[in-house]
Amino acid sequence: MALSFPRSPKPSWPGGKQCAVALAFDLDGPTGDAMLDGSLSRNLRYFTEGAYGPWRALPRLLDLLKAHGLTATFFVPTWVVLHWPGRCERILREGHELAYHGHRHEVFRDCSLEEQRAIMGRSRDIFASRLGIKPLGFRTPSGDWGDETADMLMEFGVIYSSSMRGDDRPYFHVRADGGRGLVEIPARWDIDDYTALAYFEDPDFPIGLDRISDYRLVEQNWREEFRGYYRDGLCWTTIFHPKVVAKPGRLRILEGLFRDINEHPNVWITCGAQIARWWIAENEEVA
Ligand SMILES: [Zn+2]
Repeated sequence: MALSFPRSPKPSWPGGKQCAVALAFDLDGPTGDAMLDGSLSRNLRYFTEGAYGPWRALPRLLDLLKAHGLTATFFVPTWVVLHWPGRCERILREGHELAYHGHRHEVFRDCSLEEQRAIMGRSRDIFASRLGIKPLGFRTPSGDWGDETADMLMEFGVIYSSSMRGDDRPYFHVRADGGRGLVEIPARWDIDDYTALAYFEDPDFPIGLDRISDYRLVEQNWREEFRGYYRDGLCWTTIFHPKVVAKPGRLRILEGLFRDINEHPNVWITCGAQIARWWIAENEEVA
């Protein structure tokens, strides 16, 4: 008996495209607790592990994206911009998007509104002075935020976030005054490469350090996820990290995924900002 799948209401995409794909990579670098508490400079081993992302993994990921003709969004803490400006310039030069991800990968839900505002201000200034850009997107480094965060982000010219989990289509946040807020392009924890591939000894994650999945199954899982979004005409994005997935042996996972995406006809492969602009234009009349 043939299976039939329930379908979510399908958004419309430009030029009648079947679905939207916004590949997204968080270029965290050596961020997290060690950076926040200042121990990073005394802990070169951890520095080496985290620095692998911008230093070694990013160039080969950019090569792979170029080879497959794909564009992506990179959410980058501005501490990483300060330490690897040349790497970040290359991201822009090759047509990808850079977007906000804190300065030191701060836990936004633990920061006061004023602290969040200060982080955003610092990041805005670094993006402007070092790279000459004014990013439009934001992904919370901590996976959550405060009630006022979404409205505050708009003060910095942000038009979209990719921080929430509750849908597989874009939607609008609602402002405190009831008006229309940021576009949200939701992702999912299970499309985070940490889920299947993370192994960090110091600090140890996952606890027990015993949870790396078979690479062929990871590729298959991610391809199936893309195919589901394609079938139902939804908006697929990822929470991938160069330091996790763009290691030499793991590049095959991405290669298989990228090939599969390209083999599907009529996919809108773009970056988060383009999806947000489209969503805003499409819904102009209900503003
Ligand atoms: Zn991150």
